[in-house]
Amino acid sequence: MTSQTSVRKIVWLNLVFFSLTAVLGFIGGPIYVARNGISFFEIALTLFYMAATGLSITAGYHRLFSHATYKAHPALQFLFLFFGAAAFEQSALDWSAQHRDHHRFVDTERDPYSIQKGFFYAHIGWLIFWKHRVPYENVRDLEKNAMIRHQHQKYHLWAIGSGIVVPVLIGALAGHALGAFLLAFCFRTAFIHHATFCINSVCHMFGTATYDVHASAKDHWFVAYLTNGEGYHNFHHRFPSDYRNGIRWYHWDPSKWLIASLAKAGLAWDLKKVSNFRIWEARLMAENQRVSEQINQPGKTRCAEELAARLQEQYRRLASVLRSWESVSREHQLMFAEKLKPSAQIVENAIARIQEARKAFILERSRWLKMVRSSIRPAALS
Ligand SMILES: [Zn+2]
Ligand SMILES: [Zn+2]
Repeated sequence: MTSQTSVRKIVWLNLVFFSLTAVLGFIGGPIYVARNGISFFEIALTLFYMAATGLSITAGYHRLFSHATYKAHPALQFLFLFFGAAAFEQSALDWSAQHRDHHRFVDTERDPYSIQKGFFYAHIGWLIFWKHRVPYENVRDLEKNAMIRHQHQKYHLWAIGSGIVVPVLIGALAGHALGAFLLAFCFRTAFIHHATFCINSVCHMFGTATYDVHASAKDHWFVAYLTNGEGYHNFHHRFPSDYRNGIRWYHWDPSKWLIASLAKAGLAWDLKKVSNFRIWEARLMAENQRVSEQINQPGKTRCAEELAARLQEQYRRLASVLRSWESVSREHQLMFAEKLKPSAQIVENAIARIQEARKAFILERSRWLKMVRSSIRPAALS
């Protein structure tokens, strides 16, 4: 952000709140458990609140409100706003406005949590030692939603009610008021805070850049475990409109699974998904960029020049078979989209062509990988 939109100033409310919840949750919580033991009820309430608030930030604040990667039933929007407020990460409107600026101006002065200002600043410093102007012009679409507006205007009531009063009241009714306060409020809030903050710090510094070589955003599998799947941040910055962050079946992305399940239940629809061909294209482009940068270093030899030419030739071939695979797949889709009612024979032929194109791609890809691996350091593939 520019000096007009952010000023260096201690935000005492945040400093005190972050410190108290962390000390009471991470130190007070274990002391309480060591002295009193822990009941099944306390574990269940804490885990429920962790899942509900964590997922309301990832599937709600982030993928629904900030990026509109799907549409959701008003009842679901209410639950995301209710438990999202309980996470104490600002109103959905403030969160989304700043997050949209983060994507738009990533790594520049206008990125509210730019990693260029250091790990601590991106993690929590920007919230404690800086006061920012919130770019509401970014979220005119969200301002039209009465529930979002209400949550924003009465944010402190929503947050205290849903994040402190409700869990402590439930705990008190079961005879565990102090346990609920220390574990389901303090520990849970501090944990979800730092897990979310790791996306802005850890995932902009460590991990792999599979889809965009030069992005500071990285895919970090461990952070994905802490954040319901948000750790695949290189993919997310490259394709922010996709409702998924982890795209492989083995990627830990409970937010994606929740959204897909809600869609099956009729509570979510219009789930946006980037075509596999665009994803392949980005991945190959990243591999090519990385290998080219390694080979085309200053003072390269004639031998390196020949190698670079051979690699480029193979990359062009690979990109071309990918385009052919996409083209035959699209023809097949159009046959059904336009209700042409093709004969069984035509469908069979189309499927055979798709399989052939796919096989050609796999073959050229394995040739490409072999060439890359024998030419450069293995790190160039990640
Ligand atoms: Zn980011
Ligand atoms: Zn995002």
